[in-house]
Amino acid sequence: MKLIDIIEAPKPSLSFEIFPPKSSAAYESIQKAAEAIAQLSPSYMSVTYGAGGGTSAYTVSIAAEIQKKFNVPVMAHLSCISSTREGVRQQLDAMRQNGIENVLALRGDLPSGTLPEPGWDYHYASELVAEIREYGGFCIGGACYPEGHIESASQAEDIANLKKKVEAGCEFLTTQMFFDNNIYYNFLYKIREAGIQVPVVAGIMPVTNVKQISRIIALSGTALPQRFRYILDRFGHNPEAMKQAGIAYATEQIVDLFANGVPAVHVYSMNNASVAQKIQENLSEIIKG
Ligand code: FAD
Repeated sequence: MKLIDIIEAPKPSLSFEIFPPKSSAAYESIQKAAEAIAQLSPSYMSVTYGAGGGTSAYTVSIAAEIQKKFNVPVMAHLSCISSTREGVRQQLDAMRQNGIENVLALRGDLPSGTLPEPGWDYHYASELVAEIREYGGFCIGGACYPEGHIESASQAEDIANLKKKVEAGCEFLTTQMFFDNNIYYNFLYKIREAGIQVPVVAGIMPVTNVKQISRIIALSGTALPQRFRYILDRFGHNPEAMKQAGIAYATEQIVDLFANGVPAVHVYSMNNASVAQKIQENLSEIIKG
């Protein structure tokens, strides 16, 4: 099923993300987590591709398994910066053969201190989007950054680049995580003003582990509201209390987003089935639509 049809349906869409194992040794435990999340029957699940230095080898197989076994629609991420055109074709062929119809087209992170070089096959995600569109048959999503992408000189420049990506063929966007919904609402206003009309899925991360969030925030530049800092200060040393507070904070953000007419929320569940389960439980009536 094409995700655009799920995102545009009247029922609120709640989806979860998983990342594949870095080695074959961890495959089984991640497969179990993915299956436990799939059993919640989310609107869809997405599977990352080589994010945070991880592997890209299992993205298609994990996504295909979820879809086949649980009938949950899936989206496979695909990044291009360190790929060749041939490598991208092979990934698209594998997705097609496995019945995967949705792809999140990404540039991927550059090795630190480098800039895209003229000789590379890909420089920006928009080139990948155009290529997937030409390949045909996929619903294509793209990433967006309500606080501006970390490499961009200004938000206006980032939005102008985002517009090129949408014009290349993105049917919807998914945001990087944010912890203050006003940042999302403000971003939405600005992109609509710039003429970007596709749906924008809100990406929400339930923070359950302080170490992990410090690293992610250093990489992404995401702002932490004072209200959230108080939670980290107070409960950060107590894993169970932090998990409970992180889930409650994320739930409150999601309720506010749905209440304000946001059609779809994607939860960065980080392979944590119990977190996904709690969030889904907390929203059980709201997501009935
Ligand atoms: P782009 O859209 O290409 O943008 C990258 C930068 O280049 C921006 O600053 C943009 O303004 C600028 N730019 C774009 N086009 C042009 C142009 N024509 N001229 C000049 N500048 C331009 N990474 C992974 O490796 N694997 C994953 O699975 C993964 N999943 C993600 C999912 C989501 C929802 C998000 C938000 C990010 C994800 N990432 C993933 C991280 C992503 O790869 C990085 O944030 C990366 O740095 C940018 O990727 P992009 O696709 O947004 O790039």
